[in-house]
Amino acid sequence: MTVGESIKKFRTELGLSQEDLGEKLLVNKQTISLWENDQTMPSIENLMLLREIFGVSIDKILYGDDNSKMGKNLNSLDTICATLAYAMGITPPKYAAEKNWELANYIDKVFDGKKADRIVMYNPDAVAQWIYEKYPDYFPDVKLRTDIEIYLASVMPSVTPVCFGTMYTGAQPEIHGIQKYEKPVLTIDTIFDALINAGKKPALITYRKCSLSRIFLERNLDYYHFEYGDIANVNAKAAEVILRDEHDFIVIYNGNYDATMHKNGPESARSLAELRINNHMFSCISDLIKNNWKHHNTLVGYAMDHGCHTIDGSCGSHGLDMVEDINIVHLYKGYKKTES
Ligand SMILES: [Zn+2]
Repeated sequence: MTVGESIKKFRTELGLSQEDLGEKLLVNKQTISLWENDQTMPSIENLMLLREIFGVSIDKILYGDDNSKMGKNLNSLDTICATLAYAMGITPPKYAAEKNWELANYIDKVFDGKKADRIVMYNPDAVAQWIYEKYPDYFPDVKLRTDIEIYLASVMPSVTPVCFGTMYTGAQPEIHGIQKYEKPVLTIDTIFDALINAGKKPALITYRKCSLSRIFLERNLDYYHFEYGDIANVNAKAAEVILRDEHDFIVIYNGNYDATMHKNGPESARSLAELRINNHMFSCISDLIKNNWKHHNTLVGYAMDHGCHTIDGSCGSHGLDMVEDINIVHLYKGYKKTES
């Protein structure tokens, strides 16, 4: 499907005429007609407005509705790190790939060109894009409390230490060095090093022995490690840290879906129930920030590391170079300060 065809499709699905859509965008009917006939392309500003009107991602407008079924997402997970650095106005880690322009534009817009002084990353493990799209009823509060969906391709092999290595260094696995399921301490520059160099204070709230708790060790940041699988204490600590209001960058790891998915399959009732827990936790964390951090510009992310697929009919797995394992979506919201 061409860009023009998808604009036409989304417009007619909403029952809008070319004139109606033009009015919403402050452009004339002819402009819409030129877009739909693929004679001109909408500007980035208009694409962002179209995304809001249609309620779909820019990827879907540009690459068609069935992109996720067709192939891997075009933007890599390695773009997130530099975007987070950009959001805070700090120098990105040395090997970080170029930032994600769609998210960077959103950040500029939501904070009126100012920077975020806080970032909170909620990291659920192994929640695939296809799960997110197939089961929207398990993500209601995540959807309600985020503004933008960023479709990303995770990295290979699509396992947790490799993917978090890329998420928080901005580098591909062959550069950051973790290329299989192993958890050495990363020696290359990470977002945490970039933050510390800029005088910021990061906190990492995870399970003991999980990838996130291991690969970013030996840095001057606050580590809060709990028993393996103890998300109740991870999330209680996250709430406490937010209320204490001393950290600039907070990472919260919830591995509950991953663990259940491996045993019971990605679509089992038990695994889906874990998504509800994540949905609830994300909503609690978002509301704590909204109500208690009125004096901060805060960027909050619901950010997956990799996806998953079904094996042997009843179990789940990941790590392969397949759409189900690779395609993920990150959801973000900026809370602009309302008090000085
Ligand atoms: Zn796993």
